[in-house]
Amino acid sequence: MGARDLLHDMLAAGFTLEVAGEKLLVTPASNLTDDMREALRACKPELLELLAGGNAHRLAQERPYRPSPAQGNAAHADAWDDAAIARFQARTGHIRRHGFTEQDADDLAEQMHLRDVRADYRHLCLECKHYRGRCGNHKAAGLHTTDVGRGLATMFQHCPGFSEVN
Ligand code: SF4
Repeated sequence: MGARDLLHDMLAAGFTLEVAGEKLLVTPASNLTDDMREALRACKPELLELLAGGNAHRLAQERPYRPSPAQGNAAHADAWDDAAIARFQARTGHIRRHGFTEQDADDLAEQMHLRDVRADYRHLCLECKHYRGRCGNHKAAGLHTTDVGRGLATMFQHCPGFSEVN
């Protein structure tokens, strides 16, 4: 499992992950299984980068949010109706206003469409009305800081503080 998937699974399971210097703090630590501890150790450098939002390697990639071929096929298995197209356009516009490139916005909006098709109820910080480059509802979200790097903002998750942007 890669760091991105691991981070998502940890967040979905209700854990909070924070960076303190070179340390990765996971709470509640008492709920961690041995397998989780091992996976966290293996992915620690990548997790620190993701959580700090300074993943130079990922940002240097040409299309960091590009859906896989299988995801692309699934997203386009059925023809998009007018509502789906309008939703896609609204999402790309919204994502671009957060400073993402047109390509990144397209890729993220396609992933969101696939999320909808699969009735997966996770969401991105980018869809949350509390997201302004930082989290404006961090206590309700279970975060100890307002910092939400791009790694976390573009990761599907269940957040208790989420409220859909109008
Ligand atoms: S409340 Fe949750 S979903 Fe909304 S910006 Fe904060 S961390 Fe992201």
